[in-house]
Amino acid sequence: MLDPREDGTGPEVELVDVGGDGQQREIVRLKKIVRSEADWVTDLAPTEFCVMRQQGTEHPFTGEHWNNHEPGIYRCACCGTALFESKEKFESGTGWPSFMAPVDARNIDTRPDGSLSRERVEVLCRKCDAHLGHVFPDGPAPAGLRYCINSAALKFVGKR
Ligand code: FE
Repeated sequence: MLDPREDGTGPEVELVDVGGDGQQREIVRLKKIVRSEADWVTDLAPTEFCVMRQQGTEHPFTGEHWNNHEPGIYRCACCGTALFESKEKFESGTGWPSFMAPVDARNIDTRPDGSLSRERVEVLCRKCDAHLGHVFPDGPAPAGLRYCINSAALKFVGKR
């Protein structure tokens, strides 16, 4: 996982960085991380590479975080950007970590994914374009969203 404050070589984006205690928020402007598949494959575990750089999906109930109930922040396993936090995590029963919202809308991207027979919305890391999972319109009220995220795309940092 790269340092969340590391600059890449792509276009500049606005992100929200979260301090170690999970409370302090700071808007930062950083250049997107742009790396080749060959670069990523050497730095990532095979499952991480398959999920984040090749749009793979881990088997349900197999990942590290689906049943994690500790307070803390979930960061991008590629670039360290703060993506989700424990207070938005809920029991979806799917076997994948599920969140009602990201840390900040600026930290993620979404795009249509037509790779299966039904249309889905893919969720990506804004800083490094890692595939994270999908967002579905069947989450808890009031927002009604379920961010269904692969454990392999997340590094958990517990609250200090
Ligand atoms: Fe990332």
